[in-house]
Amino acid sequence: MRELDIKKIRSEFPILDEIVHGKPLVYFDNGATSQKPRMVIDAIDNYYEHVNSNVHRGAHALSDKATELFENARQKVQHFISAKHREEIIWTRGTTESINLVAQTWGEKNIFENDEIIVSTLEHHSNIVPWQLLCQRKNAKLLPITVKPNGELDLAHFKSLISSKTKLVAIGHISNALGVINPVEEIIQVAHENNARVLVDGAQAAPHLKIDVQRLDCDFYAFSGHKMFAPTGIGVLYGKKELLDSMPPWHGGGEMIEKVSFDGTTFNQLPYKFEAGTPNIEGSIALGAAIDYLNQFDRSELANYEKELIEYATEKAKSIPELKIIGSDCNKTSVLSFIMEGMHSQDIGMILDQQGIAVRTGHHCAMPLMQALGLSGTIRASFSFYNTKEEIDLLFEGLEKAKTFLV
Ligand code: PMP
Repeated sequence: MRELDIKKIRSEFPILDEIVHGKPLVYFDNGATSQKPRMVIDAIDNYYEHVNSNVHRGAHALSDKATELFENARQKVQHFISAKHREEIIWTRGTTESINLVAQTWGEKNIFENDEIIVSTLEHHSNIVPWQLLCQRKNAKLLPITVKPNGELDLAHFKSLISSKTKLVAIGHISNALGVINPVEEIIQVAHENNARVLVDGAQAAPHLKIDVQRLDCDFYAFSGHKMFAPTGIGVLYGKKELLDSMPPWHGGGEMIEKVSFDGTTFNQLPYKFEAGTPNIEGSIALGAAIDYLNQFDRSELANYEKELIEYATEKAKSIPELKIIGSDCNKTSVLSFIMEGMHSQDIGMILDQQGIAVRTGHHCAMPLMQALGLSGTIRASFSFYNTKEEIDLLFEGLEKAKTFLV
């Protein structure tokens, strides 16, 4: 197997040369947002320097060029997640907006009094609150799947919750707080056997796993560009065509209409029915560039390298007796979520920051999970393929230093 050239990869991410508090940046907050390769930054520059124009207006050469790049990017996303049809790719602002779109269109049409929606205790707030709001509007019930102490979903509990009342299962592919990979294939199969639809929150999966929505057979899949090396403000909702077709429109405005009159309005076809207003053109094109960037690699090689990083960090963690890993002995991606017994996570985060090491501390927008685990928060070091074992060594040196201040 060809060795990944990490030095070369790092040289393609200009921000990795930053100096923070006088120290070289060690960026371990990839779960919150990833850094951007030169190819993505150049795609944005090129768009504004040579193309900038509104799309789908067909009025002049620049508009035609912008439309071509914008629709090519949609096709790149289609192939990236192996969707059957290009119209199944809806541009949104990100995972949060994708989930809200489904809750407010599919949900409004299909959820009624006493219906049930199943989520899990591991979910990010974005995959809880839109369903909670929908259930309040409709007098329906939101049921959480419990989680085992090691961070794994309790599948037996899921199977005991699902019934003919279940209309939707909304499940994260990978937990942002712990990095645990959920058995979404099995969950989707069980849900479909019970005639329930499934939405997968893929925000943390898109940067790490090869996604195949046809193989998964999920009904909806949501993810954000910024966590997979593209800019903020752009994301994707995938939905099966027949479902998207049956859903009422969401935002009203330009682009999503076919014909408007005061006697009534008819709506555009997919995907435009859900894309009111001028879209994030440069964001879509840059997301396409991020996909081009990733396609240069064998994704499983990147995943293997990230696995090496998490195994290395997990092994090193044993050298600190106060360190307790949250989310262990389970199928997970490159996230080390932990507490340091007797020390506050925020204090640790601040001391690490002083050494140029960026981690995230707190509840990670997963308050119900923290409650279930009896924690106020964790320290989360989330790795990407541009990170190195030497940087992990610096993290552990930083933790030893933090101990000398805090114990
Ligand atoms: N779901 C998960 C699992 C996440 O990690 C995040 C972002 N932390 C979101 C949803 C929300 O994503 P965004 O803020 O990009 O909409």
